[in-house]
Amino acid sequence: MTTTPASLFFNPRTYDPKHFDAETARLLRATIDWFENRGKEKLLSDYFSHVWYADFLEFQAREGLFATFLTTAADAHASPDKRWDTSRIAALSEVLGFYGLVYWYTWQVTILGLGPVWQSDTASVRARVAQLLADGGVGAFGLSEREHGADIYSTDLLLIPDGDGGYLANGGKYYIGNGNVARIVSVFGRRTDVEGPDGYVFFAADSRHPSYQLVQNVVPSQMYVSEFRLVDYPVAAEDIMHAGEAAFSAALNTVNIGKFNLCFGGIGIAEHALYETITHAHKRILYGEPVTKFGHIRRYFVDAYTRLTAMKLFSDRAVDYFRTANPDDRRYLLFNPITKMKVTTEAEQVVALLAEVAAAKGFEKDQYLTIASNDVRGRPKLEGTVAVNLALINKFMPAYLFQPQDYPPVPTRTDPADDEFLFRQGSARGLAKVRFHDWRLAYARFAAIGNVAAFTAQAEGFAALLANAPPAPEQLAEQDFTLALGELFTLIVYGQLIAEQAEIIDLDADVLDEIFSVLVRDFSALAVALHGKAACTEQQRNAALALVAAPRADQDRFDRVWQQVESLSGTYEMRA
Ligand SMILES: Cc1cc2nc3c(=O)[nH]c(=O)nc-3n(C[C@H](O)[C@H](O)[C@H](O)COP(=O)(O)OP(=O)(O)OC[C@H]3O[C@@H](n4cnc5c(N)ncnc54)[C@H](O)[C@@H]3O)c2cc1C
Repeated sequence: MTTTPASLFFNPRTYDPKHFDAETARLLRATIDWFENRGKEKLLSDYFSHVWYADFLEFQAREGLFATFLTTAADAHASPDKRWDTSRIAALSEVLGFYGLVYWYTWQVTILGLGPVWQSDTASVRARVAQLLADGGVGAFGLSEREHGADIYSTDLLLIPDGDGGYLANGGKYYIGNGNVARIVSVFGRRTDVEGPDGYVFFAADSRHPSYQLVQNVVPSQMYVSEFRLVDYPVAAEDIMHAGEAAFSAALNTVNIGKFNLCFGGIGIAEHALYETITHAHKRILYGEPVTKFGHIRRYFVDAYTRLTAMKLFSDRAVDYFRTANPDDRRYLLFNPITKMKVTTEAEQVVALLAEVAAAKGFEKDQYLTIASNDVRGRPKLEGTVAVNLALINKFMPAYLFQPQDYPPVPTRTDPADDEFLFRQGSARGLAKVRFHDWRLAYARFAAIGNVAAFTAQAEGFAALLANAPPAPEQLAEQDFTLALGELFTLIVYGQLIAEQAEIIDLDADVLDEIFSVLVRDFSALAVALHGKAACTEQQRNAALALVAAPRADQDRFDRVWQQVESLSGTYEMRA
């Protein structure tokens, strides 16, 4: 039987994670029930009053939620349910995003805080952190600084040797989530007695230590995004988790692990907003008819629905690559920043479309859409920015497009494995050496679907543009130009994993066609943007314009997909 998106979308009323083990399913269900029993009124009033979510953290501590999901098997000490299982981490990220970015965020920064710990060989830190988690503690990731933003090379958190094998740490960190309460604060800095990259250090700090000074919450929100200062904070040798280049790699590898959950959080936000908006619009009568009679409203809904489905397909498939990764298969390093910058910006698009439909309703204090519209903007900026991730994605472009290599098939990975490779990813270098399987295969399987064929032709046109009119070195040095190429390239990778997952789950062909109708339109818009770049040559301009194509329209297909959207009306409303 073919799959329709309604069965893919998270719905608290019908959620039945039977592909997980009993304890995982229980914890997911308990989390959903906690939010539902607490109700929408409290969810929203706490949000608008910036109430710190101590009750949620008490719930997670009581249930052992973070401890079960975020302790690696190596540190689980015979607790059979503890493991680092990306599949269930993704599921919980979606659930938390569904109830709000702020709940997702406290979980997310705990994940980031744990990254350097579980990558470390320092047994004392690992044991301490495993115990803190078991006691209900949360983590924080102290990388960013006020003055340096994405430029983490320039850290001013300084470690001065104390002459006894330890250090005194001094300096400030900025934008650090959970910095008000975390007992596990992974802090990045550099030694004053060593020049260059050899001086980098990742060490474990505790926000309760008297030398840890909490300065402020830098955001007006329920979540606490802290500025803190360390003043002669004593760092013992056994607090050091990584030193030298390894500390830098630990930072980037942690971001790889943490980045991943942004997409599922964004999916959760968009799903909740979709249920609320279709239910409202379908009941709202204007000029004697439901609002959903308007042609443009249906178009907004069908686009939101298909974009959301695409986000879900790509992200679910990316889980498989993430979990199957090993030193010889690092394809996840490309799919990961795409989950980060593409799926999250798609979440923004979906929520924007729904906000167009809801109009004034989307500003009211009793609407989830009000908070979704506000919070969804933040997601692409939480780990790097779209530009930073695109710059990373571009490193893979030549190998992906022009040097395919065979790999064994990657199965669906919802099995209860511990994803230990993520904590031994190794050096963050050598990205251009990563090879990919042939992207054309996934597209070829759906050649009979009109918009997949149209999109494939666009992708081929882009590869031909690069082969026939390759960017000159001075163009490659112009980031405004390379980022425009990167946006087009990203869509090809995005479509590939969407097609792979569509085949795996046997997605309804109408929906797949509509998804690719969106991709054809997006690709055309990006081609026009490339055409307008000052750095473009005449030959590249002409080739860029040749990429513009119209999607294959089919009113009957559109109507069938619209009926799927319509049928979501009333299927979920959060308990008051
Ligand atoms: C709500 C929130 C919570 C956060 N939580 C944490 C946390 O818990 N821990 C933590 O360590 N950090 C956290 N961050 C920081 C986040 O990771 C940074 O915002 C991010 O690293 C970018 O830094 P910046 O925002 O200061 O931008 P800047 O680095 O100042 O960038 C300015 C501009 O330059 C561009 N740019 C910079 N470098 C490049 C490049 N290499 N290539 C292309 N373009 C580039 C950017 O795209 C951007 O447009 C949080 C941020 C926010 C907003």
